[in-house]
Amino acid sequence: MREINVSEVEELVRDLCIKANLYLPEDMESCIECNAKKEQSPVGKNVFADILDNMRVAREETIPICQDTGMAVIFMTIGQDVHFVGGSLNEAINKGVARGYTEGRLRCSIVSDPLERVNTGDNTPPVVHLKIAEGEKVEIMVAPKGFGSENMSQLKMMTPSVTEDEIVDWVVSVCAKAGSNPCPPIVIGVGIGGDFEKCAYLAKKALCRSVSKRNPKERYAKLEAKMLEKINLLGIGPQGFGGTQTCLAVNIEEAPTHIAGLPVSVNVGCHVTRHASGEI
Ligand code: SF4
Repeated sequence: MREINVSEVEELVRDLCIKANLYLPEDMESCIECNAKKEQSPVGKNVFADILDNMRVAREETIPICQDTGMAVIFMTIGQDVHFVGGSLNEAINKGVARGYTEGRLRCSIVSDPLERVNTGDNTPPVVHLKIAEGEKVEIMVAPKGFGSENMSQLKMMTPSVTEDEIVDWVVSVCAKAGSNPCPPIVIGVGIGGDFEKCAYLAKKALCRSVSKRNPKERYAKLEAKMLEKINLLGIGPQGFGGTQTCLAVNIEEAPTHIAGLPVSVNVGCHVTRHASGEI
């Protein structure tokens, strides 16, 4: 049994909130650079240049890449041989987010009640997904999610009779409807399987996978490629100004489901699809 003081969790969550909002993952940055070279439209090329310039300024001036510093989504994997000491784990996570957003001068965007809509002032509470694993490590990923793209996400309870082409067409239609709203070039997380809420979780998890890693199963990797090609044929282009590079990557995560169903979800990510990870 390994004892971990919850103050270490607080510190790591604080640091990851700031890191994720200031620096894009390396693979995401190189994917944007690569798509900038492929873009055919002159206006689209200019938009890509602005996007890359914005990332450079954020890095050099240590300011957020985007004004919407998002809702803090936290994926936490806890080894079953870990014992937390020094206080409440929940409070430590919340304090970490509050400190990250206030000390890092990040915009606080969370309202305490969805209908009353009063800002909590410190971006708490986050959305926390917990997973228990073997061992005595704690892994934490913070993925701040902007709502320009989150609002464009959808879930559909399909039936097992649906064809793969119909799944592809529906995912593409979600992107067509989203248009310029999610600040393209977008990243698309697709969840296939599970039940209603697991399917949405899969799509979010898919967005946190590297944009350069394809699904390890060939069938799903082929679907990712097909969806990417069709989304790029929509011609929405960077920031919706028209162009050939609307989508940077499609990541699919799948899970077992019920014999009577085939849930499919799309979590739309923008060109600031961010996450930062660390472990204790
Ligand atoms: S969708 Fe992304 S790029 Fe657009 S405002 Fe929101 S966080 Fe920023």
